Amino acid sequence: MLLTMTGHSCRFECENLCRVFFPYSPVRVEDGAVLAPGEPFADTSIDKTEGGFLYTVRASDGQRELSRTATAPIVEEYPMTRLLFDVLTELTGVRPAWGMLTGVHPVKLLRQRGMDEFREKWLVSESRAELAGRVLSAQRQAVEELLPHDYSLYVGIPFCPTRCAYCSFISQDMAHAKKAVEPYLELLNIELERAAKVAGELGLRLISVYIGGGTPTTLSAGQLAALCKKIRETFPIEHCREFTVEAGRPDTLTIEKLMALKEAGVGRISINPQTMSDKVLENIGRRHTARDVIDGFGLAHKVGFRDINADLIVGLPGDSPEGFADTLEQVLSLSPTNITVHSLAIKRSAELVTDEGALSLHKRPETAAHMMDHAISRLTKAGFEPYYLYRQTRMAGNLENTGWALPGSACRYNIYTMDESGTVIACGAGGVSKLKDPYSSDLKRVFNFKYPFEYISRHREILERKDGIKEIYEQFRQRIY
Ligand code: SF4
Repeated sequence: MLLTMTGHSCRFECENLCRVFFPYSPVRVEDGAVLAPGEPFADTSIDKTEGGFLYTVRASDGQRELSRTATAPIVEEYPMTRLLFDVLTELTGVRPAWGMLTGVHPVKLLRQRGMDEFREKWLVSESRAELAGRVLSAQRQAVEELLPHDYSLYVGIPFCPTRCAYCSFISQDMAHAKKAVEPYLELLNIELERAAKVAGELGLRLISVYIGGGTPTTLSAGQLAALCKKIRETFPIEHCREFTVEAGRPDTLTIEKLMALKEAGVGRISINPQTMSDKVLENIGRRHTARDVIDGFGLAHKVGFRDINADLIVGLPGDSPEGFADTLEQVLSLSPTNITVHSLAIKRSAELVTDEGALSLHKRPETAAHMMDHAISRLTKAGFEPYYLYRQTRMAGNLENTGWALPGSACRYNIYTMDESGTVIACGAGGVSKLKDPYSSDLKRVFNFKYPFEYISRHREILERKDGIKEIYEQFRQRIY
């Protein structure tokens, strides 16, 4: 899709809106670019007129063309994006569930701006406004109980047994990374020590721990036990109310690993089926079976885990609304206390080989949305409440990822990190520390290197960035005096 802009510089939002309506047509913003035959386009312009400004959008889906104008007293982003949204809606007949919102944290916006603005300004559909409202109420207590000096610790293990075809995370498969695991763990311990020192000097209080990845249970039982022990010995954990490990791939689970986690005080784990169809698992290159999921839950229950999350994905290639409904029933019968329903990122789905071709919003606008709507009603009926929600820029059906929990089993770490309501200090490759100014809505990010190789070879820089956290907190504190 070709996007042109004249008389304004609202590129970011205009581009994002074009992607919502034309997810499989990469947006080009190039001066003097030539339109390919049948390529969609949007020409946007703002011109000075007597007493104000004239906004114009002329757009085409490759076949039909539509042009509309509006006036406003000044040059602003909202009238431009609103006009573009209206033209693209009329042109395509698509009414995006999240309206004009293209950001990652809609619940955060709802908390800051209120439901009227959510519905009337950003044109969020009734169903998504209701969903976001439910999430906001479900997380209220966790957010209100946060103290200014509270923080969560994230620990990244960027290794997986094999790589799934749709994966957008930076994770190394064990065939290539085996030799890196031990050096990585040694350096991770050093970073944990530095993070604990910095947090201690700042007077911060650890309230939750989350070991994610990758697949942390790719590690051996001994390595998992040692890592958990290191965390317990290095950080003061008397106020830590949850300790979560993402077991992720069920084919990595053994009774020894689960017992090691249980003995180390881990209270919550994730076992992620994504789908209970072996055929769909094969389509997405996820090398385990539905039987592995059932066995993994059986082992975890035997070891005594009660809080278990199961991740599912709507919009997978080769899946259908009936197939997804069957997956959900099978997963519910395994008694998880949390279920997280993701929408497949479109970029990845487009790369996957499917019998039916790519999942396009235009070609199959209803499929992913039907699955998601079914998940909302079925999980509500089963007693789950949505408690965190986030979006990515290219999701099947332009939907969302939602974490659901039975009463009393919500994972606070997920709330604080996804909603950016609390500080997270992240250690390990791919970790992103999010430092929340306790006295304003400001948030600063500190990035670790993504790949294990870089993490190992440039570890000194990682430690320097950890030290830099002190300076950022100092800046937060100076603002209030
Ligand atoms: S298990 Fe998860 S992190 Fe690992 S390759 Fe598969 S999708 Fe990616």
